[in-house]
Amino acid sequence: MIVRNFVLAAALAAAASTCTVAFQPHTPVFSKPSVPDRRAHQSSTRSSSIVMRDFPKPNVEDTDNYRYAEAMSKSFKTTLRVTDPSQKKRVAIIGGGLSGLSCAKYLSDAGHEPIVYEARDVLGGKVSAWQDEDGDWIETGLHIFFGAYPNVMNMFAELGIHDRLQWKIHQMIFAMQELPGEFTTFDFIPGIPAPFNFGLAILMNQKMLTFPEKLQTAPPLIPMLIEGQPFIDAQDELSVTQFMRKYGMPERINEEVFIAMAKALDFIDPDKLSMTVVLTAMNRFLNESNGLQMAFLDGNQPDRVCKPMMDHIVKNGGKVVTNAPVKEIVTNDDGTINHLLLRSGEKVVADEYVSAMPVDIVKRMLPTKWQTMPYFRQLDELEGIPVINLHMWFDRKLKAVDHLCFSRSPLLSVYADMSVTCKEYADPDKSMLELVFAPCSPLAGGNVNWIGKTDEEIIDATMGELARLFPTEIANDDKWPATSEQGPRGQAKLLKYSVVKVPRSVYAAIPGRNKYRPSQTTPIPGFTMAGDFTSQKFLGSMEGATLAGKLAAEVVSNRAIGNPDKPIKEIQAHIINAAANFVAKDPVGIKGEGAIAFGGGYTIGKKEEALLRESDPAQYEGVAEVAMV
Ligand SMILES: Cc1cc2nc3c(=O)[nH]c(=O)nc-3n(C[C@H](O)[C@H](O)[C@H](O)COP(=O)(O)OP(=O)(O)OC[C@H]3O[C@@H](n4cnc5c(N)ncnc54)[C@H](O)[C@@H]3O)c2cc1C
Repeated sequence: MIVRNFVLAAALAAAASTCTVAFQPHTPVFSKPSVPDRRAHQSSTRSSSIVMRDFPKPNVEDTDNYRYAEAMSKSFKTTLRVTDPSQKKRVAIIGGGLSGLSCAKYLSDAGHEPIVYEARDVLGGKVSAWQDEDGDWIETGLHIFFGAYPNVMNMFAELGIHDRLQWKIHQMIFAMQELPGEFTTFDFIPGIPAPFNFGLAILMNQKMLTFPEKLQTAPPLIPMLIEGQPFIDAQDELSVTQFMRKYGMPERINEEVFIAMAKALDFIDPDKLSMTVVLTAMNRFLNESNGLQMAFLDGNQPDRVCKPMMDHIVKNGGKVVTNAPVKEIVTNDDGTINHLLLRSGEKVVADEYVSAMPVDIVKRMLPTKWQTMPYFRQLDELEGIPVINLHMWFDRKLKAVDHLCFSRSPLLSVYADMSVTCKEYADPDKSMLELVFAPCSPLAGGNVNWIGKTDEEIIDATMGELARLFPTEIANDDKWPATSEQGPRGQAKLLKYSVVKVPRSVYAAIPGRNKYRPSQTTPIPGFTMAGDFTSQKFLGSMEGATLAGKLAAEVVSNRAIGNPDKPIKEIQAHIINAAANFVAKDPVGIKGEGAIAFGGGYTIGKKEEALLRESDPAQYEGVAEVAMV
């Protein structure tokens, strides 16, 4: 049925393809919202014609994934809720990123007492942000929300914060590789349901792929629609490039689409990325009419998302403690947890413990007694990928768009002018670009280990790319040699910048990783695992982190009311065999104070860099611990 729809969509789209309007980059790209937008926010600009506009929240609730997410949320207040005070558990959660906070939120809904211990002075982990000396916000990463984020959308509804999402026009914007300064769009027509809207969007765009190339691209994707998740999971052993070649997809689709998609999804190139990641994303977007519609948060993430989560936890009797790094998980002779030892020397004793730390940090904290257990040895197969997030303030307005742009540059992934996309960062006179610099090391498929380069080298290379993306706007500036080719028309000069290095971000979704993602249920009684890398059907993302925290809360809640544990996910035979011969050592532990030490990102100084080079040289030398394809 779906396939028939898709073919019909293709035919429809072919007919409609003559009406494509590829926009000129320097004209505003707003279509009128399909229904009157009473919440429209207009921040008119003096020196730019770009107007920030919120589009109405799409109907994200009418999908099976949303209904499932909502039912699960409700279960914490009904079937999983404690009915007897003796069932109430004190749960110590290590890590106050989205996963730890989500876990605590749902445990508090079920009547438990969660206490989140966050190492840093700010919540959020990879969605944390802080202010510089001028009061400007520096974010760990440019974060985009999608309509196909059912657990995030449902949690926003529960917390009453949906109005903090600034929905953008349902469109994807790509820079044209061969036409510097020009962009092209994929437009999703309002009112046309999935999968027609997706098929139409692809077919209506006449700038990126030819009609025969589009037709050649569709057949390899049809099994995804017929067989669904089993087909998607089965492709995990193949990289995107291998999948394309195996199924005869045109090579140009790699250049035109997959490079941009792979860098946006996992900060790596398609020859490194598992095809399962691309198919998972496509599957969600193809099946949900508003799945690909994007939203920006209206301000900094700690205040606008983490704080309402914390307030909810506290209101329900839980606690969130910052500046509380867990130094050691102290075990009994039988391997069960005796207590957590904080760096301050405080001992934390609880009924249940949850790790919501990133995978690279969990590995450093593994108690000696757990190290020979196959469940924990799986973690050796997972490793955070490096990425760099840049903020660049210009002395005037660039003629940007009120949306996310896929740069399609060899150095950059996506970027946005936050001065026109985000209310808190709005500025009528100056542009602030936030850019994701990827792939940024050989680990991620790049040629250069940018993680080990200076901020000035990174910014100069980026200025060169921006000069190409904005050929008539970026000024020739002696300070940045890469702009030396710019002509006299370019006037925009860089006022200031910030380089945030995240040497270990989301787990590298290289081929074959899904089978090693651990279940939330662990072999240690009273110990559960959360974090975006744990096994859940969404990728390493805000949605994945939120769902993983919720799944961990479900494990704890079930146990508390006497239900059996969900089974531990199957572990690969080679992991079981290798674990038997593993020689356990004292845990490596975490050195240093900074965000990077705890799996986040920061603008790092020389002293911190030296410490990190010593404690985790792979981060700086670009050496993978997990063999890359
Ligand atoms: C540059 C960048 C851009 C991104 N863009 C997007 C996007 O557009 N859309 C999207 O959906 N996702 C995006 N992501 C991914 C998303 O941010 C993550 O998947 C998600 O935030 C991970 O949440 P988490 O809670 O699993 O882990 P984390 O956010 O890493 O949280 C772990 C927490 O544990 C704490 N911790 C670690 N060790 C200890 C310890 N010993 N004691 C106490 N606390 C400890 C850390 O300080 C941290 O707060 C992006 C990520 C980056 C880096």
